[in-house]
Amino acid sequence: MKRKARTPAPAGATAERPPRKTRRTCGPCTACCEGHLEGRAHGHHFYLGRPCYFLGGAGCSIYRDRPEDPCRKFNCVWLTEDILPEWFRPDKSNVIVARGAWGPDKDRPYLKVTERGSKIDSVALNLLYMYHVQTRTPLSVQVDRGWNHYGPLEFVQEMQKNAD
Ligand code: SF4
Ligand code: SF4
Repeated sequence: MKRKARTPAPAGATAERPPRKTRRTCGPCTACCEGHLEGRAHGHHFYLGRPCYFLGGAGCSIYRDRPEDPCRKFNCVWLTEDILPEWFRPDKSNVIVARGAWGPDKDRPYLKVTERGSKIDSVALNLLYMYHVQTRTPLSVQVDRGWNHYGPLEFVQEMQKNAD
């Protein structure tokens, strides 16, 4: 999903996609195409451990033809929001932070934090946990490949049920 920052942000904020607040660009980061997230591009499935078929050495090889969902639609939190510092760019921090939605109407936001190949750094983990405490935004975070959920009981139960 490299260079999506050049794509105008879609109108209409949702729990998963709040209004854009930064002028950041992906730069050399291709973390969301590398097989840490799950999706499908032109019939090619990418998922944990399997990078996108179209990811080349210079980024997305079909950039102009990349699909709307998930490629144009997905923006990580570092790219679009001002809650994470510069060093948190996913290819530097090895952590991909995304917004998700939960609840019966899927309209309540939470942060989903996925490791990029190595165990999350304690400084990064602490920063995210403090954000959770200060804003009460539920947090689902991968630590050494295991998932930990912080938030109301209903949130934790929903996340655990989804993992079954
Ligand atoms: S098609 Fe693949 S490489 Fe290109 S933006 Fe989408 S996920 Fe990334
Ligand atoms: S993980 Fe974020 S910064 Fe990196 S390529 Fe994807 S959207 Fe851009």
